[in-house]
Amino acid sequence: MKCSICKEKAVIELNYLKKAFCKEHFIDSFEERVKKHVEKNKLVDKNDKIVVGVSGGKDSLTMLYLLNKWYPGQVSALTVDEGIKNYREHTIKIVEKFVKEWGINYKKLSFKEGIGFSLDEICKKLEGIPCSYCGVFRRYLLNKGAREMKATKIAIGHNLDDEAQSIMMNLFQHGLQRFVRMGPLSGVVDNEKFIRRIKPLREITEKETRAYFFIKKFPHDIWECPYMQFAFRHNIRKMLNDYEKDNSGTKANIVKSYDSFIKKFKKTKYNIVFCEKCKEPTSSNICRACIIKEEFYERTRNKGKTKN
Ligand SMILES: [Zn+2]
Ligand SMILES: [Zn+2]
Repeated sequence: MKCSICKEKAVIELNYLKKAFCKEHFIDSFEERVKKHVEKNKLVDKNDKIVVGVSGGKDSLTMLYLLNKWYPGQVSALTVDEGIKNYREHTIKIVEKFVKEWGINYKKLSFKEGIGFSLDEICKKLEGIPCSYCGVFRRYLLNKGAREMKATKIAIGHNLDDEAQSIMMNLFQHGLQRFVRMGPLSGVVDNEKFIRRIKPLREITEKETRAYFFIKKFPHDIWECPYMQFAFRHNIRKMLNDYEKDNSGTKANIVKSYDSFIKKFKKTKYNIVFCEKCKEPTSSNICRACIIKEEFYERTRNKGKTKN
């Protein structure tokens, strides 16, 4: 296997692009494609203040590194500590070391302080899938935290695999409201309370961010969320990976199909409303975060009673 550019020995083969690269040309191609995606979709404006949601994993750190390199002075990092024992404390250390090394402004928010309870506590009381609670509160706190940091955009580390998974998940679960909100720049309307999200890594596969991270010798991310096995995403991920093996380009095609479809749809006006309880932006009268909170406290009041 030879590099498609210099014909030296390749270290990575990208079937979906029908290309292979040596170390040096892989790094060049990776950065070039991310930059192109950011520019093509106008994800960053020169006046933007970008808050990068950083989990400590390879995707978010890679994205933080690149945005900070290309848009110095415009980038800060924000971490949400869900309170997942034996996991989050390790990844937070990685983030803290990373932002210090690159001199990036950093803030941390926790479920415990921002919501009132940790994810571990929620999972002991409520029977739903941990990731569904986690997702709701993470989005909630990221938006609130970024707004407090005066951000105009939130960058999240979704790669091509994540995006293809999200598209399929929303189809499988008939999550149409969420379905139409995805894309490289999500959120359909501009609103000062709702910070729009950008996904700079959306056209890059997970395999590539892993390789980039490794070649760049960024700190190891060996920790996996202990709740991952419960995630519906986990099953979809497995399914898509299996399928991609024999049909390279499947994930990229899912995302491409989505984009063509949504281009037409987004011309339609879409309104944002505010939660009657907490006043945060949402798509219904009362936001998901407030509904889960209420369930949690209800359960705390009725200790011992089980839900059927
Ligand atoms: Zn090469
Ligand atoms: Zn609310």
